[in-house]
Amino acid sequence: MKELANMLQSAKHTVIYTGAGMSTESGLPDFRSEGRGLWKRFNPDELANVNALIHNQDEFTEFYRHRLSEITKYEPHKGHELLAEWESKGMVKSIITQNVDGFHSDAGSQEVIELHGTFRLFHCHHCLEPKDRDAYLQGDVFCSDCDGITRPGIVLFGESLPQEAFMQAEKESTHADLFIVLGSSLSVTPANMFPIQAKESNAKLVIINREPTQLDQYADRVIHNRNIKEVLIEINSLI
Ligand code: ZN
Repeated sequence: MKELANMLQSAKHTVIYTGAGMSTESGLPDFRSEGRGLWKRFNPDELANVNALIHNQDEFTEFYRHRLSEITKYEPHKGHELLAEWESKGMVKSIITQNVDGFHSDAGSQEVIELHGTFRLFHCHHCLEPKDRDAYLQGDVFCSDCDGITRPGIVLFGESLPQEAFMQAEKESTHADLFIVLGSSLSVTPANMFPIQAKESNAKLVIINREPTQLDQYADRVIHNRNIKEVLIEINSLI
């Protein structure tokens, strides 16, 4: 751990990459887990689809109001807070995340690149007008300007990743001299692309994930079977 603390302190451009493992430590249930009442009838992967938004609006909306109500029950944990604190001290440059819960921003991080969008923002799918999240939760799901359907600002299956976020993530990865993965299995593209880009640009690569990942062989340090939050607290106590 002391070595990780040293790496963090001596690095000039640290980029953090977070995946689902970061959010589950806040208690946020995995929406795909079985037996979750209402959603037994539907496959969440089918509802998280741009076709469902257009052709199955009632169930799409019901599903996302449910997910939003789940997310608003939980909050960032100490690990999210430490990353924000390290950023304010200049020890972290940016966070690239696959998560859509917005917990990094909620915790106070400024440079957050959300590859899959965010549940913090809602908009009209038709005219793109921003919409109020609380109003959506209350059931106000149609646009008062154009009657279009309101939707969360996340990337659905069948949609492309936000170009700007993607390019920013590439830029951060190539500028990094330390790249730390927290709670991602790195099994899909582009998740696994950024650590490789960082490594090819001579960054040190650290992977902290409960399970082994496909990129462990390229990493300078790997930590398995640990609670991310506890690892970050421990590192923080050494700096
Ligand atoms: Zn509209």
